[in-house]
Amino acid sequence: MATQSAAFANLRLFDHPLIQHKLTVARDRGTVPADFRRLLNEIAGLMTYEVSRGFDTRPREVETPLERTEGRQLSRPVTLVPILRAGLSMTDGVLQLFPEARVGHIGIRRDETTHRPVTYYARLPHDVRDGYAIVIDPMLATGGSACAAIRYLKDAGCREIQMICLVAAPPGVKRVQEEHPDVTVHTASLDRELDANAYIRPGLGDAGDRVFGTLD
Ligand code: URA
Repeated sequence: MATQSAAFANLRLFDHPLIQHKLTVARDRGTVPADFRRLLNEIAGLMTYEVSRGFDTRPREVETPLERTEGRQLSRPVTLVPILRAGLSMTDGVLQLFPEARVGHIGIRRDETTHRPVTYYARLPHDVRDGYAIVIDPMLATGGSACAAIRYLKDAGCREIQMICLVAAPPGVKRVQEEHPDVTVHTASLDRELDANAYIRPGLGDAGDRVFGTLD
């Protein structure tokens, strides 16, 4: 379902027809927020199948209506970490598959003077370090917010971190790879470039505005 990117060792590309179809509809400027939101959550749900492939399981005995048998269950907690605010747009889709997952939130803004990312809000489960953390942000543009969020999680003790995004730009993927080579980035598309305003091209515009209907 996902393939290793030839360009970046840390990038997994979802070339599945269903994901590509949904991404194309999401890119369309005529797609209204209700549909845009639904599409992003559906794509996130489809990605979750692959993202969770390596998760540890432990044996668990269950009593079926007929007999006792041994199955397996996930053995470590999963924490979804949407970067506010656009990251919220893919979180419900992952929760559909992982209803037991916890949701931590990280808010990151760019300091107007230093242009460096500043974490203005963070709330994580106390035992976040014991399990898997999945950073969620639909747009991986410069990589500034993603790297800051990953750094925050590592400082909290997390060692098993992945990232889900919808569309990635080469500079963002490169930056995450350089600063956090242990973090796999999952995306539906590696787009062409970042423009002078740090928008991903061809991209899909401002994801947060499209999700929340705050376009001017
Ligand atoms: N954030 C967005 O929402 N869109 C972009 O193209 C880049 C960053």
